[in-house]
Amino acid sequence: MTTIFLSILLTLSNNLPIDIGTNNKNNMKFELVQLPYAANALEPVISQKTIELHHGKHLATYVNNLNNLVVGTEFENADLETIVKKSDGAIFNNAGQILNHNLYFTQFSPKGGGQPSGKLLEKIEQKWGSFSDFQKEFENAAVTLFGSGWAWLAADKDGNLLITKEQNAGNPLKNGYKPLLGFDVWEHAYYVDYQNRRADHVKELWKIIDWKTVESRL
Ligand code: MN
Repeated sequence: MTTIFLSILLTLSNNLPIDIGTNNKNNMKFELVQLPYAANALEPVISQKTIELHHGKHLATYVNNLNNLVVGTEFENADLETIVKKSDGAIFNNAGQILNHNLYFTQFSPKGGGQPSGKLLEKIEQKWGSFSDFQKEFENAAVTLFGSGWAWLAADKDGNLLITKEQNAGNPLKNGYKPLLGFDVWEHAYYVDYQNRRADHVKELWKIIDWKTVESRL
């Protein structure tokens, strides 16, 4: 009898949608961000397989974890940015990774590449001399970050740009900066497509950056 009951329960839970897009108030507060392109649209820079694992498994897990972790805490009804700024430990790790990946996945486009324009380009040239000098410094930050983490282009309160290297779930928001562009250098972001060649992956990413989206974050 117990076995039958358990197997019915298992069947029911297996049939639950993996897409956690339904907003069930407190229980399912945070949702998996929708990709603004098809899973294979960024090939060959990022393969469909990597997108499916990275977005559909890694990010979905962070979302699921955070929904469970905030229950009964001071963060139960807080928004993501507030949680990133004020939390630590497991809640910060999962919230930080959701914020990071939301920015990451929405900054790409199959029609991306080239260079920014307008105010963002102006600020980049002011700070680094040229767009290609900025790219060199940003790539260097991404490649030299030891272990898992992120390289970010961010802006301070006065709109001055800076590059930050963040370990693990780190985000410039934690230090009062506005994140504009983030390169994920956790191995899960590139190992399927580039194995150990992080530098090659980082160089390729420029081809799919949607600079209009990045500029809109300034
Ligand atoms: Mn990632």
